[in-house]
This record gives sequence, C-alpha cells and structure tokens, in this order.
Amino acid sequence: MLTNDELAKWDRESFFHPSTNLGQFARGEGAQRIVKGAEGVHIIDRDGNRLLDGFAGLYCVNVGYGRTEIADAIAAQARELAYYHAYAGHGSEAAITLAKMVMDRAPDGMARVYFGLGGSDANETNIKLVWYYNNIRGLPQKKKIISRWRGYHGSGLMTGSLTGLELFHKKFDLPLAQVIHTEAPYYFRRPDPSQSESSFVGYCVDKLEALIKAEGPDTIAAFIGEPVLGTGGIVPPPQGYWPAIQAVLDKYDILLIADEVVTGFGRLGSLFGSDHYGMKPDIITCAKGLTSAYAPLSGSIVGQRVWDVLMQGTDENGVFGHGWTYSAHPIGAAAGIANLKLIDELGLVRNAGETGAYLNAQMRAALGDHPHVGEIRGEGMLCAVELVRDRDSRTFFDASEGVGARIVAAMLKRGVIARAMPQGDILGFAPPLCLTRAEADTIVAA
Ligand code: PLP
Repeated sequence: MLTNDELAKWDRESFFHPSTNLGQFARGEGAQRIVKGAEGVHIIDRDGNRLLDGFAGLYCVNVGYGRTEIADAIAAQARELAYYHAYAGHGSEAAITLAKMVMDRAPDGMARVYFGLGGSDANETNIKLVWYYNNIRGLPQKKKIISRWRGYHGSGLMTGSLTGLELFHKKFDLPLAQVIHTEAPYYFRRPDPSQSESSFVGYCVDKLEALIKAEGPDTIAAFIGEPVLGTGGIVPPPQGYWPAIQAVLDKYDILLIADEVVTGFGRLGSLFGSDHYGMKPDIITCAKGLTSAYAPLSGSIVGQRVWDVLMQGTDENGVFGHGWTYSAHPIGAAAGIANLKLIDELGLVRNAGETGAYLNAQMRAALGDHPHVGEIRGEGMLCAVELVRDRDSRTFFDASEGVGARIVAAMLKRGVIARAMPQGDILGFAPPLCLTRAEADTIVAA
C-alpha cells in the first residue's frame, strides 16, 4: 500500500487540480487533503481526520455520504447496462424513468428534460437552445444573454462568460461578446446605504431595463440567474426581486433561464427555487442535487414555449445537432432515481427548510453582534457570514487579506469544513440536507 507521503508526491507531480493555485500546489505550499472515505455529513481523510462537511462537497452531496441505496443502484446498473447512448431515440430504462421523475417534480409549464453531465455543460446546452429558438422564430439578431455580476454559471467558454466573477475571466479572454452583465441583487452591498430594500429592487430593475434599452431589446435573447446567488456570496434576493425582474423580461420578449444547479431538488426547503420565489422560467438548469453527486448528471428542463419551437425547428431542418456521448448516461440516471427516492423517503426537502432555518438562527444568535460580522443571511440549507472590517462604517476587508481563508483554516482545526467564497470575506455554509440540529450546533460552535 502507498504511504501518505508517496501519494502526496504523486499528487503534486501528476495531478492538474481544478480551481487551484498551480505553482503553490506543485511546490507543496498550498493546501493538500487526500480524502479517503465519508459517511453521513463527515469526510475522513488519509491522516484519519474526521471532518464535518459544512459545504456538502461543493454544495452537492445533498443526501449525505455513504448512502448504500445509491451505491447499490449504481452497481446494479453497471452490471446490467453500463452504457448505451441516447442519440436518435435510443434510451435506457433508467434514463426514461429519471426523466419522468424529474418532470413529475418540475414546476408547471415544463415540457422535457435533456440530460448532460454537469452544471457547466447544461448551461452551454441552454444557450444553444435559446439561440436555436430565436433562429427558428426568424429573429437571428436576438442572441445576447444577460447575466449578473456575482452570478456563477460554470467555467466553460460561454458559461465562464456568464459567470460574473473576475477570477473566472482574468487571463482567459472572457467574457465572450454575446454576454452582458447587470447588477447583482446584493442588498447588503447596495451602492446607496440609505436605500430601502424595495427601492433597491427598483434600482436593480431600472438598471436591467436601461441595459436592455441601451443594447436594443431585439438583440437580447435571455436572462440567466440563480434563484439565490451562490458562489458569488450566498445572497438570497430581496423581497419582490424575481417578480419585478420577470415583468421586465416579459415586456421585452426575453427568456428566463433559472440556474438551479445549487437550488434544484430541495436546498431552499422547496423542490425548486423557481417555486420558492415565484419565478416562471423557460429553462431550468439542474445538476448537483439531481444525483447528490454520486455520479455526474445534469438536466436542462425545457419549458413548453421553447419546446414547441424546437420541435418546429427539427420539422424544418432535420435532426437537432446537439448531444454528448454521455448524455443521459445510465449510471448517472440510476444514481438520480435512487437519490430522488431517498430525498422523498427521508423528507429532506422539509428538513432543508427546518434545520436550515435552525442553522441560520443559531448562527445569528452566536455571531450576529460580532464587530466583524456585517451580515448573516441564508435561505433553507444555505447560510453566509459576511465579514467586515467595521460594521458601523460598513468598511470591508481587502480581498488580499484572505480573512475568510484564515477563518476556514481555523475551523478545520475544530473539525468543521466551511467555504471561503471566492471574494475572500464571506464564509459559506451549505451542508447536506440531512443535517441534524446537533450537527448544526457543531458548525456554529466551530
Ligand atoms: N451553475 C451554478 C449555479 C453552480 O453553482 C455551478 C457550480 O457550482 C455550475 C452552474 C457549474 O456546474 P459544474 O461545476 O457541475 O459544471
């Protein structure tokens, strides 16, 4: 058996890690953790540390680790039919069953689900659907996509462009020209501290409408947004934000893509964030919670008005020329079926709402008055603690100070994993949806 030191050396010498400081890692200066196993809400590393995972991996292991029901379903599927493609009308029982389960749970007005592998490729698919839709409608100039600063939609060419975080653009020549960004609904960091929440919503809506008019409504195809901004800082929208945005989009014939990669299948205490906030999306992206990350699988859930045009398009032009080898992979689908059943059986959507509210309340009780805590916010099983240099004067830490990372490191020593969100001064919590109150207390205590 390899020693830990040998494995760590192979890691530094062979493995190109995603979202990592490459030089630091190769020189052995950066964090390195080799995870060996996991159970419930805990991961266990090769050094034997047992850590409470307060971020469910990358907010994806929603049912918790070590669920034998899902492992068994994956193994059975691999034995019976590890793979067959889904092109040209082919399918597997698993993929068809999962499609039916997703559509039974999807918000009203949805027509079909396309299966991909992860959130990034699902959003790439969605943009192609939107462009195809407008080409078939005879509106070839209506192609630009509006997303929001601080939004996260993936790190492909188009999806990295949609992402509104500089880290994902810098030195990659992104964003691409078809993408434009508008204001984030981030009330805590509103430009004018005297603004009320409702006047701030009005401000965001005015900014959006001004952008649409400046670019020309005939050039704007779609607006993409996460129901709750995730990687950009875990920011629930201010009251009334989504209905007000929806009204503007309807006025200018702009599609709404709800990116529910984080919020889909229960994290907010509702099955979908779209239901939670009264959004009426034309396309919904889902991924993480679809399989709880037991296998890679994503979904683009397409609404009726888009679907009708896609069908018209293939009647006129033949085969829809879009697909991945691994679209609707049977093993991912088997994982998805077992995962959605577990979510139902264990009542995890309700637990996300109830225990998530408890986690947020306890966090506020413990830290709400701390001089370096500017805001504690959350929804369902999502919670953020925003750190400030001084709460009264609303002065912020400089990103280079790495204050979030230092706190995360200190929490690790106390056995709890939190995430320093990319801007550096926000601690994020997104535990598995099966979290208990006692485990919530452990997070808060750390
Ligand atoms: N969309 C949202 C809202 C996400 O949070 C993420 C990933 O965190 C993605 C898309 C991209 O998903 P993936 O990393 O599976 O490509």
